[in-house]
Amino acid sequence: MIKIRTKKKLGQHFLNNDDVAKKIISYHSNRKNVLEIGPGIGALTKFLVDEVDNLLLIEIDKDCILFLKKKYKHLNIIEDDVLNIEFNTLFNKNLSIISNLPYNISSQVFFKILENRDSIDEFTFLIQKEVAQRVCSESGNKTYGILSVLLQTYFDLENIFEIEPDKFNPPPKVFSSVVKGVRNSTKNIGVPFKLFKNTVKLAFQNRRKTLRNSLKALNLPKTFTSNSIFSKRAEQLDVKDFIWLSNEIKKNEP
Ligand code: SAH
Repeated sequence: MIKIRTKKKLGQHFLNNDDVAKKIISYHSNRKNVLEIGPGIGALTKFLVDEVDNLLLIEIDKDCILFLKKKYKHLNIIEDDVLNIEFNTLFNKNLSIISNLPYNISSQVFFKILENRDSIDEFTFLIQKEVAQRVCSESGNKTYGILSVLLQTYFDLENIFEIEPDKFNPPPKVFSSVVKGVRNSTKNIGVPFKLFKNTVKLAFQNRRKTLRNSLKALNLPKTFTSNSIFSKRAEQLDVKDFIWLSNEIKKNEP
């Protein structure tokens, strides 16, 4: 038996409860072409191996990789940092992703998912409770932000259930939640993703400013910025408003 010392800097909090692991997996619909990020010592993996066709793991920690390779001889493991990987190159087909995500990289993984959105059918993630609330938050809320808008544009999101710290070893300082996203039918929003992302980012850079102020750097014509939407703050705009705004910005580009 290999003994694994948990490494804080890799966000290692190993799930120690089989019922919770099974419950998380039960919410993930896809049973084919599944990527698991950060399998650790296999809390989710041990159930996924029997249920999933074409399971692929990506793990950065050498000790965990050794442990997994010993226990599961036939598993495919990518030994790398998930942030070095483009999800759309892993399978010839679309994939889905499941993970008890290292909390320190959850936002970066979400941005990666957005870049690869047309290859990803579904994701089920265990993340910090506050992050789960933020990504699922709707306009008008203080927690509504950049990732809420961008993810909700392309995925139907659901904040499914909460998990207490004592279900992990070592226990994290915060509560966790399981969030699920299912790719919706939105394909083309009329502008490149980069323009959309930059618009949303700029709008939220200072939440208290009206759009007229926060988008000043874009030098939009007065005829456009006199529209009443510019008197609103970013958190008052829903996903459709942001898509409309980005399309108008594209039209008004100097
Ligand atoms: N799935 C396991 C472990 C979760 S802890 C469980 O539920 O018990 C997070 C895991 O992600 C750890 O195994 C850690 O080594 C791994 N990890 C951390 N950063 C990573 C990265 N950048 N790329 C891939 N794996 C990473």
